Amino acid sequence: MTSPKTADYDAIVAGAGFSGIRSLWELGQQGLTAKCFEAGSDVGGAWYWNRYPGARTDSEAWVYALNFAPEVREEWQYSERYPSQQEVQQYMGRVNSDRFDLRKQIDFNTEIKAAHYSDSDNLWTITTAKGSSSTCRYFLAATGPLSIAKEPPFAGLKSYKGKWYQSSTWPKDKIDFRGKRVAVVGTGATGVQIIPKIAPIAKQLTVFQRTPNYVLPGRNYVIDEYQAVDIKQGFNANWKQAQEHPFGLAMNSTGHTIKSVGDADKIKQVLDSGWENGGFHYQFETFDDLFTDQESNDVASEYIRRKIAAVVKDPATAELLSPKYPFLSKRPPCGHFYYEAYNRPNVKLVDISHDEIDMYENGIQTNSGAKYEFDIIIFALGFDAATGALAEMDVRGSQNASLGEIWSKSLETFAGTLVPRFPNMFLVCGPHIPFGNMPIVLDIEVNWIGKTIQHMQKNNLAKIEVTQKAVDAWSSQLDEAFRATLFAESAKANHAWFVGANIPGKISTVLFYFGGVPTWASWLENEYKSNWASMNFFPAAGVEAKSDGIASSLPKKAVAAL
Ligand code: NAP
Repeated sequence: MTSPKTADYDAIVAGAGFSGIRSLWELGQQGLTAKCFEAGSDVGGAWYWNRYPGARTDSEAWVYALNFAPEVREEWQYSERYPSQQEVQQYMGRVNSDRFDLRKQIDFNTEIKAAHYSDSDNLWTITTAKGSSSTCRYFLAATGPLSIAKEPPFAGLKSYKGKWYQSSTWPKDKIDFRGKRVAVVGTGATGVQIIPKIAPIAKQLTVFQRTPNYVLPGRNYVIDEYQAVDIKQGFNANWKQAQEHPFGLAMNSTGHTIKSVGDADKIKQVLDSGWENGGFHYQFETFDDLFTDQESNDVASEYIRRKIAAVVKDPATAELLSPKYPFLSKRPPCGHFYYEAYNRPNVKLVDISHDEIDMYENGIQTNSGAKYEFDIIIFALGFDAATGALAEMDVRGSQNASLGEIWSKSLETFAGTLVPRFPNMFLVCGPHIPFGNMPIVLDIEVNWIGKTIQHMQKNNLAKIEVTQKAVDAWSSQLDEAFRATLFAESAKANHAWFVGANIPGKISTVLFYFGGVPTWASWLENEYKSNWASMNFFPAAGVEAKSDGIASSLPKKAVAAL
């Protein structure tokens, strides 16, 4: 690639989580030089930071992988159905990063502060918190959909004298909960994993719940030597199945709708089967119309409420734990003995749905005047999802356009990969990707990015920009898919993070695509099939660019639809 100014690297990757590692590998395959900056001291991303007790995946081991190298599959076997944080961290580090010598490309403990695009030389300059600056042609923002934690917004926290921790920046050293009075604030997927772990150890555990969740039983188990063989043998088939599943999971739709089944006993049997199978099988292998049909959703919601009532002995506590909104309005957590924890005499649930909390010197107080003393408070308050990490960074595109400012008003992408006015910046697992199992989604996305970069390299194209027409078409598709769900409104009302409703002041817009992985993947596939018809390419200065035999227009003029 010729260009007026030589870049320090062909590409710079932000973040060394699943997306960043997959990106580094892809860039290496293209023979490109790449550097990765990572704020943590090791690879892993979300799995590096979220090392709280009970942290494990909610996706099954056989689809929670990086699928770039067959030799990894042979070498590695997770030991449990839902791998623990420690195992995922090992898998990312030892198996993927060390095996392919990727660490040498990563600067750890190095946060990116700014990423600025220059229109004059088509390069990005990436500046780190340490003050170093490097230039690159392609900026791959692999900052993760759930990487910026919602900080405790409590004014009184400064006066609190006990210890407090955030789930998302959990200390490496073990915390001793024995004999302690502990509070957990937050009952999302994170709180749901922490609570049953601490309950048996703490002297007293008090859970502050604002909105209850529909918690599905995960039903974790140890993978024995026989299943391990089966997983290895079935890897490709499982992966393909997950790529074809709307949410990126190796699951089968049943073909049932609530109306097609009709009979009450049969309906119960279908729901029992999903429930007993564990985890997301309940929502994806029962009724295919749970997302779109009110009756179907009502029946599935009521089924869970009955399960809660059957497990939780105290009827008042069971009632508080039972959501009244439609199932799937919030992302359902996977629990392991979550509801059972409330049967312990040392565990108490405090309803704060109509009563705000704050801290005082000895613990937590409510607006209504109740006071609770604690030695330790744990905050599991969620994340500024999808856009948070990049909006926080000073990212400036063409003509100094600020990503943070633009995204504070409206959010536009092309299929979650490119952003108008931000040439040569590729999002990896950012906003507008399908809601679902991330390893599947990012594999498809990084593969597409690789192909697109290869196309540019081959044809001496210095710059890619997505057309506004393509962005508008994608926005309509995105809205349409979300409006087709029956929780488009209830998600906002119940502070769901996938619409940004959990962060005060954040624009309320759907952050993920609900039309399914295959449809999204077809949008990307259509690009290379149509020779990137939705993109404008610009040749390197002084170069008569050609693409696949088609002569380009003059330098600096768009070479559209090559
Ligand atoms: P979350 O689902 O957003 O839950 C945050 C919790 O904090 C909610 O219960 C929320 O109440 C509460 N909260 C927030 N601000 C509060 C305040 N000011 N006062 C009182 N309560 C407050 O966050 P999360 O649990 O971290 O989970 C986020 C996502 O991360 C999950 O849905 C999942 O996709 C991912 N995750 C995955 C795994 C896994 O794969 N195993 C594990 C953990 C997380 P409201 O509901 O009322 O807002």
